[in-house]
Amino acid sequence: MNLKPPQDKICEPILWEAHACLPLLPGQDMSALSLYRMAGFHHVSVNVGMDMTPFADVIRVLAGFRRWLLQNESEYVLAGTVVDIQRARDQHKLAVSFDLEGANMLCQDVAMVELFAKLGVRQMLLAYNRDNSCAGGCHGAGGGLTPLGREVVSEINRSGIVMDCSHASKRSSLEIMELSRRPVIFSHTNVKAIHDHPRTIDDEQILACAAQDGVIGLTGLGIFLGDPEASVAAFIRQIDYLAERVGTRHIGLGLDTELAPDHRDLPEGVEESDWWPEQHYGNVNGQRQLQPTALQEVGRALKRLGYSEVDLHNIFGENFLRVAKSTWPTPEPG
Ligand SMILES: [Zn+2]
Repeated sequence: MNLKPPQDKICEPILWEAHACLPLLPGQDMSALSLYRMAGFHHVSVNVGMDMTPFADVIRVLAGFRRWLLQNESEYVLAGTVVDIQRARDQHKLAVSFDLEGANMLCQDVAMVELFAKLGVRQMLLAYNRDNSCAGGCHGAGGGLTPLGREVVSEINRSGIVMDCSHASKRSSLEIMELSRRPVIFSHTNVKAIHDHPRTIDDEQILACAAQDGVIGLTGLGIFLGDPEASVAAFIRQIDYLAERVGTRHIGLGLDTELAPDHRDLPEGVEESDWWPEQHYGNVNGQRQLQPTALQEVGRALKRLGYSEVDLHNIFGENFLRVAKSTWPTPEPG
């Protein structure tokens, strides 16, 4: 399939999706990502492992995704630097980088951070919902960073990986933002004042993120938006809320679209309720997701509300690009 993007402008702004999920299976086909090309995106960060994913699977998924992207380089770019993303845009390709949701795959060894960076991981959070050896998760006991977690934050900063606070406990997120030497993001979350859920973030977190020039990526998931229909209007309400409090410089897209919504990445013997507690996810079935293809409609709605062209560029990708420029490795000379 050779899809042409909808626009053909020179030096158009970068459109950036901060988090997407394919099944975490060795040999997984990635062609569902063409959805992002059709919607006009230039870069998408794809998850390669969560805290419940067995270590060997994380490595095999990374290997498989890298191989698939290189075999499909007429349409995709395995992105390691910001220049790779700009090149992908100029060549009408989709740039793909990887993200980790959790720190269990580090095997409590700080040296693993740089290895994952070498394999293409450019964004990483410390705890997926539950507490682990590094940090408290949003469905855990409410604790913060452990001594190991503090070391891992420094190593993430040093290795050119963007520090992500999604899925963390509030205390962990605030401690990470205080400690990090580079801007911290919430790659995919929503606003607690609109919908009170352990996965959404409150004003203290929002203000702390903006204060160190970070970006908050908004999910399009009905369960966190507080709208089972996941309507464009509900998504715009989230943008409006953040824009009023911290301005459009700190808003991004982290729609968290599940590209195979019926697939569950649970190893044998692991219960869904271990990671997604029943009381917070009992009503997840039937909740819809805002699709990447809704981007044009979101843009038109924002324009009607008086958002400027610059605001739209910021929200749709330039903000995440700014954080990547300040954090990701710079290209090798020559
Ligand atoms: Zn997530």
